[in-house]
Amino acid sequence: MNIVLFGPPGAGKGTQSKYLVEKLRCFQISTGDILRNEIKKNTEIGKKISNDMNKGKFVSDEIVNGLIKDLVFDKKNKDRLIFDGYPRTLSQAQNLELLLKNSNQKIDFIFFLNVNKDTIIKRIKKRKEIEKRSDDDLNTILKRYDTYMETTKPVLDFYLKNPNFHEIDGSMEITEIMRKIDTFVNV
Ligand code: AMP
Repeated sequence: MNIVLFGPPGAGKGTQSKYLVEKLRCFQISTGDILRNEIKKNTEIGKKISNDMNKGKFVSDEIVNGLIKDLVFDKKNKDRLIFDGYPRTLSQAQNLELLLKNSNQKIDFIFFLNVNKDTIIKRIKKRKEIEKRSDDDLNTILKRYDTYMETTKPVLDFYLKNPNFHEIDGSMEITEIMRKIDTFVNV
């Protein structure tokens, strides 16, 4: 089973992905984590990523698409993929369709965790205290939310046509969201 978790920063994609990884023994592809790892390596590409991320901007499609390709094609992960934070642009969504088609896979569920701006600001402030992420200050949060809304709308329109698309109220408690997801992912 392959699942895409979709929604603004702070919607709970990471938490729900981890839940699904445990439950379904799947492999999580979190582009945020992958990019943060690249930064730690302190390569030229890492510096470019860090610069974009800290400004609340998206990292280029070329870089992100390049980083996930091998993971999608890895036989160990076949039909066991949870996409967390990818795709975020229409070009990424189209790239994902192609990668899955070429590896004989498909998306079984797309969950859109929908949350309003106020809830996101509260959640990310709390996360900053716990995780101390450098892109979690208030200005960056607002920038990330706006970038998300502008850039991700075409992805939402693209997935709305997909019969496997489900919108979930992401402002619910974590466990309530899990129960809701369980009603679809019934294993
Ligand atoms: P996240 O951990 O998913 O909240 O992502 C943190 C930051 O990483 C985002 O604000 C972007 O700068 C970058 N990022 C993560 N995933 C993507 C993606 N699919 N495309 C472009 N940039 C991304």
